Amino acid sequence: MRPTRIALDLIRRSGASKAKRELVEYWKLSESKAGLAVETALAEEGQLRRMEENEAILYVGLPFCPGRCLYCSFITQDAQRQQASLGRYVNAVVQEAEGVFDGRFPFEIAAVYYGGGTPTSLPVSFFRSYLEEILAVAPLKENAELTMEAGRPDTMNRDKLELIRSSGFHKLCINPQTMREETLRLIGRHHTVDDTVAAFCRARSMGFADINMDLIAGLPGEDADDLLDSLCQVIDLGPESITLHTLAVKRGSYLDRLFADRRALLPDPALMEAVEKAHNLLGQNGYRPYYLYKQKNCRSGLENTGFTRAGGSLYNVAMMSDQVPVVGLGSGSMSKVILERTAKRVHNPKDLLVYIDRIQEQIDKKRALFLSELQ
Ligand code: SF4
Repeated sequence: MRPTRIALDLIRRSGASKAKRELVEYWKLSESKAGLAVETALAEEGQLRRMEENEAILYVGLPFCPGRCLYCSFITQDAQRQQASLGRYVNAVVQEAEGVFDGRFPFEIAAVYYGGGTPTSLPVSFFRSYLEEILAVAPLKENAELTMEAGRPDTMNRDKLELIRSSGFHKLCINPQTMREETLRLIGRHHTVDDTVAAFCRARSMGFADINMDLIAGLPGEDADDLLDSLCQVIDLGPESITLHTLAVKRGSYLDRLFADRRALLPDPALMEAVEKAHNLLGQNGYRPYYLYKQKNCRSGLENTGFTRAGGSLYNVAMMSDQVPVVGLGSGSMSKVILERTAKRVHNPKDLLVYIDRIQEQIDKKRALFLSELQ
């Protein structure tokens, strides 16, 4: 769900200040939410203008994590217990990349995002193939944006950071989610606050100059002060971007059972106020919103907003826009083209072994999808 799409339509029709007024008077947004929608819509449009007609973005997914977070509904395999499949999985994704990026692939890749799961949970030898062999065949445009999600700070050692850097990635996501130890344990993260700080400092000392950090508002057992305290600690580290998510209660997650009575989804004025204060704090520290989306079953109907003081992420904006072709590699990923302003999608199987066993089918589906763009 993208509220900024409505804001952008209004801006195009009658300009930013009238758009803001209409969001307040007709759509019944608060002044601050209307301002957020208009500012973010303009920033998103600025990002999308960087893309040419013949460009696409690339997502490479790894459905492994070292354990499962309380709120996760994504099918992730425990990397420790799935060592036997990791090599086969990496080979399959490399094969998929080689098959899709044959001489007939009609786009240049403007932005690449390695996500998951946690790509950095791969052992170094597999991680090397996963980075180098896929990027070697992808038709990257000059100065393409390359982002690595190093979501779990405990999976990122110096060797992996070296590999990330030498493969050309200049953007890194290190995701603490909270800076409160008790909550980290409760939500099933295997890292500590010190791990986050150490990972951030290590990445900085190795030259990573564009780092995003994610936080989640509305985590179980946290109040407004906890959120603002986590945010202050993250701001003190000084990442270039901070993404403030709101906890979503997803079907199939452990959290879904914990919040079975759904009371946690009712509007919570204290949470709404805390998020508002967090936005203000980000603004006071020079972070401006650059992309925004909503998910189903977010607490208090709140949004996820990316803030930046260094340009943000083209990938994030393009992925949410439904205006840009997407190549998705790996199990559970989605690819799409835009035909006559409508997105046409194909999905890879979520089941890892089905994906590996039917890799040629995934390649053929994607070739047909992207070649339909040429007809
Ligand atoms: S790090 Fe992300 S993908 Fe992995 S278990 Fe946690 S929420 Fe799920």
